[in-house]
Amino acid sequence: MHDAVIIGGGHNGLVCAAYLAMAGLKVVVLERRNVVGGAAVTEEFHPGFRNSVAAYTVSLLNPKVIADLALAEHGLRIVERRIANFLPLDDRRYLKVGGGRTRAEVAKFSQRDAERLEDYQARLEAVADVLRTLALQTPPNVVEGHPIAAISELVKSGRIANRLRHLGLDLQRELLDLFTNSAGNYLDGWFESDPIKATYGFDGIVGHYASPYTPGSAYVLLHHCFGEVNGNKGVWGHAIGGMGAITQAMVRSAAAHGAEIRVDTGVREVMVEKGTAVGTVTENGEAIRARAVISNLNPKLLYGALIDRAALPQAFIERIAKWRCGSGTFRMNVALAQLPDFTCLPGSDLAEHHTAGIIIAPDLAYMERAYFAARTFGWSKQPIVEMVISSTMDDTLAPPGQHVASLFCQHVAPELPDGSSWDDHRETVADLMIETVDRYAPNFKRSVLGRQIFSPLDLERTFGLVGGDIFHGALDLGQMFSARPMLGHADYRGPLPGLYMCGSGTHPGGGVTGLPGHNAAREILRDLKRR
Ligand SMILES: Cc1cc2nc3c(=O)[nH]c(=O)nc-3n(C[C@H](O)[C@H](O)[C@H](O)COP(=O)(O)OP(=O)(O)OC[C@H]3O[C@@H](n4cnc5c(N)ncnc54)[C@H](O)[C@@H]3O)c2cc1C
Repeated sequence: MHDAVIIGGGHNGLVCAAYLAMAGLKVVVLERRNVVGGAAVTEEFHPGFRNSVAAYTVSLLNPKVIADLALAEHGLRIVERRIANFLPLDDRRYLKVGGGRTRAEVAKFSQRDAERLEDYQARLEAVADVLRTLALQTPPNVVEGHPIAAISELVKSGRIANRLRHLGLDLQRELLDLFTNSAGNYLDGWFESDPIKATYGFDGIVGHYASPYTPGSAYVLLHHCFGEVNGNKGVWGHAIGGMGAITQAMVRSAAAHGAEIRVDTGVREVMVEKGTAVGTVTENGEAIRARAVISNLNPKLLYGALIDRAALPQAFIERIAKWRCGSGTFRMNVALAQLPDFTCLPGSDLAEHHTAGIIIAPDLAYMERAYFAARTFGWSKQPIVEMVISSTMDDTLAPPGQHVASLFCQHVAPELPDGSSWDDHRETVADLMIETVDRYAPNFKRSVLGRQIFSPLDLERTFGLVGGDIFHGALDLGQMFSARPMLGHADYRGPLPGLYMCGSGTHPGGGVTGLPGHNAAREILRDLKRR
């Protein structure tokens, strides 16, 4: 008999395991793949070339989680990019962001925008600070029954209202914009020149299958700004050894406190007895009983595939079937003989722009067109690509003088509109992504030595990401905070006693944050102590 069995060894499952083990519980993590880490893993994808094969860049990983799990002591080292972003625009023009040069770079396109940058950053930062506080809390849960049950939730809501009151009216208005408006409208309200709007607007469509002018996309932008690297807020960096270095440090932390972590152990079923979750059955038929059954999976996968429908309330089944998933993401890893030589900034010797998040999408209208083309045809002939060449920051990933890059491509349809399979189009779309980079850096295509491709279908098959959704469910307003994954279940507790959720389908959502795992562990410990 275990205290806790965790289904899935994604980073949130590992964080939850570490906290529960630290509290003295007997914990086992069951992972279907032959490696733990979920979407945060490093693998060899071409002989001699390793990369973070899915998630590829770090910022959102919460500093409290890093400290509590002693991840640095367990080997984690995160470095900053030399500059944040590089946006090649055409044969001559480009924008660099970060590294202390944003203002001068933006002034190339608009003096007015350059002067507004500081104010923009300060306001975004003030609202991101609120999000940082909320992200560590269990959202107020909507409860039914006796009014006494609602009191603690009302107190929680009151505390949040009080936190917001301290912002002052002006920033409350900013917060309202960031939670409801579109990223496009929000940025149009701040800036007039396209390149800076495209750089910031990219965050509004990352993993979010929508136009940058879709209401709610401003929140997705904000979601990508509440992180930090080594104390520097809003910055993105690289974990030496790739994202797998984060999850391997988590494994060491959890194991040091006695957690057992098993790979190649898929779970087939959650055991339910007398309406209570009492354990799991693995793919090979082993029953593992525990006081708490905790799922790291997309909620749709958990409730749709692992639990007998008869054990769940009908209204719950109907609601979870409507959980919206699908990121519009196409992910590639490429092994490179040399660095890209951009026409607008020539040279294939390592320079600061090679260490940046290189965004190919010159303006918000381009991103909007890519979205509508994907909805109509399945993908756009002019797709959005972010390329991060991780080997420019980390010499453990590729042979000397050679490189690995992540291509994070946006706006392909999670399911193809003509009903065909992604298996029929994977190579064509991969060629298109390479050619898209090649248009800006004409040595790119010929420098590719090997490639790995994940269409939305591949992301689902390999990592269990339903519809290829990188966040375990869209970050829509209707699926956030007290509604993640459903009103009444925002407190990490499922609809059955003994059943909990700790994955990105719970507050505060996706990204390599460790926060759902952290928050879930707190609620589980509370219940187990009570019992
Ligand atoms: C292509 C891509 C790029 C991304 N880029 C970034 C990025 O750069 N930075 C960032 O912060 N975030 C990024 N994200 C988002 C982030 O990686 C995810 O939101 C996060 O890793 C999800 O973590 P999780 O622990 O909640 O779930 P997951 O990582 O999805 O883990 C769930 C685990 O459950 C396992 N599992 C599934 N079914 C079963 C079963 N039946 N039995 C046992 N185990 C099972 C899976 O194999 C998996 O290991 C990206 C995601 C993707 C896919």
